[in-house]
Amino acid sequence: MREALDPIGLNTARIAEVRCGVVDLPLKRPHKLAMATIEVQSNVVVRIVTDDGEEGWGEAATIPGYGAETVETMAQVVRTSLAPALVGTEISSLGGAAARMETAIKRNPYAKSAVELAVADLMARRAGVPMSALFGGRRHDRIAGLWVLGAGEAEADIAEAKKLFEQKLFRCFLLKVGKGAPEDDLARVRRVAKELGDGVELRVDVNQSWDEPTAMRFIPQLAEAGITVVEQPVRADNVEAMRRLTGRFPCLIMADEPVETPQDALRFAAAHACDAFSVKLGKHGGPTATRAVVSIAEAAGFRMFAGTMLESSLGVAAHAQFFSTVSSVSLGNQLFGPLLMTADPVVAPVRYEDFCLIVPTGPGSGVEIDRDALKSLMRKEDAACLI
Ligand SMILES: [Mg+2]
Repeated sequence: MREALDPIGLNTARIAEVRCGVVDLPLKRPHKLAMATIEVQSNVVVRIVTDDGEEGWGEAATIPGYGAETVETMAQVVRTSLAPALVGTEISSLGGAAARMETAIKRNPYAKSAVELAVADLMARRAGVPMSALFGGRRHDRIAGLWVLGAGEAEADIAEAKKLFEQKLFRCFLLKVGKGAPEDDLARVRRVAKELGDGVELRVDVNQSWDEPTAMRFIPQLAEAGITVVEQPVRADNVEAMRRLTGRFPCLIMADEPVETPQDALRFAAAHACDAFSVKLGKHGGPTATRAVVSIAEAAGFRMFAGTMLESSLGVAAHAQFFSTVSSVSLGNQLFGPLLMTADPVVAPVRYEDFCLIVPTGPGSGVEIDRDALKSLMRKEDAACLI
């Protein structure tokens, strides 16, 4: 009887262990954002093992100054709250695992996302299917990519963009602005736009750095310079300013930092306080919560963009699996972390071809952990947790 109800045998095993550790991933160049300059990206990797010896892997990343979690708090939350909530439970329901974690501790979306992705990887591997099958089924096999020009200086940004365009890796670029004077940012945008010409698309992310009058003054000039999307120009808590900016200029206004929960998404949809969401599995708290945000965006007619916090191939593959199931990610993806890193804890990294991220086709996330590489990247105090 059990076999008839569960032909793929998902619920014949229970979670025996939930372990995690922090990996430090050096970057090829310093990555300059409004709130931080990153030279080494630190992420949390989660490993879940069943009582019959199968395992699944998940990853979550944070950026200093972006959200409320750090890799240290994430690891602590996984060990002391999320692992006890899942150990001993059946591997049978992704939503059930998400609900148990929500009962165990509120918020902490990045920690929850890493664990839920490891559960999804494990469930999909047991079924012999890609994670996309659990997330609603694949709609597309590739997602157009965007590269963040984070050198912070026009000449270096131009050289980087030209090289990536010639390699047919990226033709859409985002400049991080807001750290210095808006006049300087505008001059840099104009310079980059002039040098790169018509074959590329340019966007900016202000990461909340401007007040409303500054946004009102500079967004039209950015649009005139060819910018198509302005991401989070004002503070996250200023929904009214976002509403007043939306629809006013010939470029899209994208919300990022303020849209974490489905309730946040609903607030933005009701107020029509943006044209688009930057959607991130970690920010929303894992695939179950992210699906709710995506549904609200679809109902509101908002465009969507698959954002990143600089994951390795492990996290990028999971994001690709999820976003392959979303009917339209019309603004593409920003899942370029592996190309900016000098190391990757997987056997074969995710692939980028013809300006797109290729969605992996193998079981689970579609990438395989390289244990030796992972061990070399993991903080010493955590190494025993994973291997
Ligand atoms: Mg952003």
